[in-house]
Amino acid sequence: MRKPSANQSTSTPQRLVVLGGGESGVGAAMLGIQKGWTVFVSDYGAIKSEYKADLRRMDIPFEENQHTETSILNADIIVKSPGIPDKAPIIKKIIAKGIPVISEIEWAYRFLEKGTVIAITGSNGKTTTASLIYHLLNEAGLEVALGGNIGYSFAKILAEGTHDYYVLEISSFQLDGIQDFKPDISILLNITPDHLDRYDYKVENYAKAKFRIIENQAPGDHFILNEDDKTMTEMLKAMNVKPRLHRVSTGNYLDGFALNDLEFSEEDLTIKGPHNFFNASCAAIAATLVGIRGTSIKKALKTFKNVPHRLELVDKIKGVAYVNDSKATNVDAVFHALKAMKTPTVWIVGGTDKGNEYEPVFDLVEEKVKAIVCLGVDNSKILEAFSTKIKIIEETNSAQEAVRVAAKYAEPGDTVLLSPACASFDLFKNYEDRGDQFKNAVLRLRD
Ligand code: ADP
Repeated sequence: MRKPSANQSTSTPQRLVVLGGGESGVGAAMLGIQKGWTVFVSDYGAIKSEYKADLRRMDIPFEENQHTETSILNADIIVKSPGIPDKAPIIKKIIAKGIPVISEIEWAYRFLEKGTVIAITGSNGKTTTASLIYHLLNEAGLEVALGGNIGYSFAKILAEGTHDYYVLEISSFQLDGIQDFKPDISILLNITPDHLDRYDYKVENYAKAKFRIIENQAPGDHFILNEDDKTMTEMLKAMNVKPRLHRVSTGNYLDGFALNDLEFSEEDLTIKGPHNFFNASCAAIAATLVGIRGTSIKKALKTFKNVPHRLELVDKIKGVAYVNDSKATNVDAVFHALKAMKTPTVWIVGGTDKGNEYEPVFDLVEEKVKAIVCLGVDNSKILEAFSTKIKIIEETNSAQEAVRVAAKYAEPGDTVLLSPACASFDLFKNYEDRGDQFKNAVLRLRD
């Protein structure tokens, strides 16, 4: 049984102000109302119509396209959307007034009375691993919810009901705003440079935020970590870690992995590449920690269907496999995508650069890539990095054109891989839009 949170600040309903009217903000507001708090939601931008409808339905007052200071600075607690940086002027004023600012994950956690929390963070692989764990627990007949940074926010899940297990994908921004949040099982998959603009361009600051996932864990809790991640293991040396450690090595997983005495091979998994053996291995350990047997895990892995846009096979046309990895928005994700390629590859790359350094993929590109198709407004960094290494590099500025050009260079047996290493906002609404447009363009090749 989980003890009710000792945090006095939430035990008596007061005034909650939620900054940001997205999934997490609306969830936090819903939970607040349910617990008897007075709630106000303020968003500096526009709030999506579906969320406005939710707020109206629950009679929750809100404003958009502005922050009215008099309605905000009288809060007892502020729940801040992970998208709002601490440097935002309104946050500075709130902090100067001494009002506590927490994340929605922390807010929700304070109301959790029972249930096991499994929290997953890392630079890459969070959604895949969280979805895998959910699938394993669900197939084993456990009463489990999946949310956090994917699907429903933790607060919305709790507002709608209670569960025995909560599998939560957690971003570093969400961890920035925790105080008491304590998973029973935490997983830190990897730490590679990402979002550095929010961490004063220091990997160390970003890594510290990720490690906050174990900050409140106690000796009876579990911490599953990546033994081959140097940033992680270096930081670990200087830490007094309380939960039980479960070290998982990425290096051993070329053809499969083992769980105690049970071997898992490529045929046992529906997801491809060594990085996915690693994800599956972490998920399997989490599942055994809640009492699921290895044989049940093996059976359930065979029916796992990953979320779209992660090394998703779209179609095979004229012997060429088209793979959508639009969610690969940093160089490390591309590194693992290229590692998973077993055929000559035409690589579609580009978009909004996030300060990319392409050196980590040089060897893999030389080994596997036969042509590069740039898909972005400004492709200069890609051209500079690869023009001496790859003979064929073409620039395109729509998904359809990129697919047409890629198809021109791909021969039967090859793979066309969209794995952009960049954000999507220069040409697309988001990574889903980019992946969907790619998939549509591929399917049109059949016409
Ligand atoms: P996240 O939720 O952390 O963004 P996803 O599961 O959505 O992670 O995957 C994002 C990208 O990272 C995809 O391109 C995927 O193929 C790749 N990826 C998945 N797992 C890993 C891993 N363990 N290490 C590196 N890259 C990974």
